[in-house]
Amino acid sequence: MPQIAFDRFYRYAELTEILHALAREYPHLAAIETIGKSHEGRDIFVLTVTNVQTGPASEKPAFWIDGNIHSTEVAASAAALYFVNMLVTQYGNDADVTRALDTRAFYVCPRVNPDGAEWALADKPKWVRSSTRPYPFDEQDVEGLSVEDIDGDGRILQMRIEDPNGLWKAHPQAPNLMVRREPTEIGGTYYRILPEGRYDHYDGYTLKIKRPRQQLDLNRNFPASWRQEFEQQGAGPYPTSEPEIRAFVDFVVRHPNITAGTSFHTWSGVLLRPFEHMPDDDMDAEDLWFYQRAGRKGTEVTGYPAISVFHEFRYHPKSVIGGTSDWIYEHLGAFSWVVEIWSPMREAGLSDYKFIDWFRDHSIDDDLALYRWNVDKLGGAAHHGWKPFQHPQLGAIEIGGWDRFHAFGNPPLSLLEREIGKFPRWLLWQALCSPALELVHAGSERLGDGTYKLTLVIQNVGWLPTYVTKRALARKTVRGVFAELELPEGASLATGKLREDIGQLEGKAYKHTGVSFWPDYNVTDDRVKREWIVRAEEGATIGITARHERAGTVHASLVLG
Ligand SMILES: [Zn+2]
Repeated sequence: MPQIAFDRFYRYAELTEILHALAREYPHLAAIETIGKSHEGRDIFVLTVTNVQTGPASEKPAFWIDGNIHSTEVAASAAALYFVNMLVTQYGNDADVTRALDTRAFYVCPRVNPDGAEWALADKPKWVRSSTRPYPFDEQDVEGLSVEDIDGDGRILQMRIEDPNGLWKAHPQAPNLMVRREPTEIGGTYYRILPEGRYDHYDGYTLKIKRPRQQLDLNRNFPASWRQEFEQQGAGPYPTSEPEIRAFVDFVVRHPNITAGTSFHTWSGVLLRPFEHMPDDDMDAEDLWFYQRAGRKGTEVTGYPAISVFHEFRYHPKSVIGGTSDWIYEHLGAFSWVVEIWSPMREAGLSDYKFIDWFRDHSIDDDLALYRWNVDKLGGAAHHGWKPFQHPQLGAIEIGGWDRFHAFGNPPLSLLEREIGKFPRWLLWQALCSPALELVHAGSERLGDGTYKLTLVIQNVGWLPTYVTKRALARKTVRGVFAELELPEGASLATGKLREDIGQLEGKAYKHTGVSFWPDYNVTDDRVKREWIVRAEEGATIGITARHERAGTVHASLVLG
């Protein structure tokens, strides 16, 4: 097993080898499969992690994890890989990990979008939002700037061009830091700033950036809240039109044991929950309460605030979006979160940092705080000084400024492991909150005349009810517990049914915290007892299976005597 490093990012070939090595090294805990192929034909891998000696993954409640649906958010892959590595290496050492793998399963897709990530991690990187498939049009803009590393240092920074009518000037206390000039200010040295890149057909005066030829946003290609391009950029021609999302959706739908999930993205340092398109008032109260409870736990463990996308994380006040998390909650009724890894602003000591709103409006003091954090804490890794460069089309310019990919879009490598190490305890907590069927009692009693009474008692030992969310009940995406008898040749039922539909078992999540103020009329609503009478030979073996799509399967075998 190669040592997995968490101070670097892995390209496709190395990541593929690591995932296969994990499955080889821990065959009792991890299995690998390909769930589909990307646009360019790369495999999209899912690791199934569970202790197979206590039952197959399909008979256990499961937790979904994905990452790197957006090309440049490669820390998301690292976070998923970090979690898998912790699961397999800490099994038997860590009580929560051991219990989670004995009683639950994890499906982990570390890189939903291998093509886009490969472009982002190339020696000469190229940034696209998601897929590398041209969209919505095949042709490229003819004129303008193509964003790329033009000085060959492997980074895409900014270019500044001195211009008396430029918007930007040097900060008086930190001359490398570009800040906006004042509204009525004149007489200083001003600059235009644009991303590093090559320019086609420069007319000597006007500057514009080409729109990328690849404008898909795979996180807008899910069936829930899907909207056409005019309302939602990057949506694709129809839901699941893109092979990466088709593979994702197919896998999740084929695994109805998934009770919850988390999608890793970067950046903002925040835990995001549904809805993305509706206010909290439109969510079932019980679901909202658990989301709030899980959010508090997440904040306690990770230090990240937990918020609703609709209320606090909209790109524009008038825009609504759909994505992984909304699909998993809205359509399937499973709990789903998005983690936006990493907040440079919080690292720099900015308090009351307002996520997306910060980009629209923040003070120059904030920029200076970020710049000083870069100097004092990162040794200049987030912001590079301006270096003269003879640009092939634009002439004498300078290249430098913020390193968006290595310090903002992803944690700097020196801080990567610290940052992605914040999440495993919260993921485990979420997984261990799932419903879980347990066999309390299975027995037989001889009644005479060749008849026997069979008794089965099962219960839900999970925190959540077997149906998980009220939304799942309302949307009819979850069925109840089925108890099924397997009778030997010659045996028959006198009373009861071969397959009993038992319905749902409650959990503990929605009980009052004030014990004794209101009576709980059904104290054992997490437990059920069923009886059957069978005619069978003495010594015959009867199998009983109780199963729930989300809460798992239990088996009992009774020898009549
Ligand atoms: Zn993202």
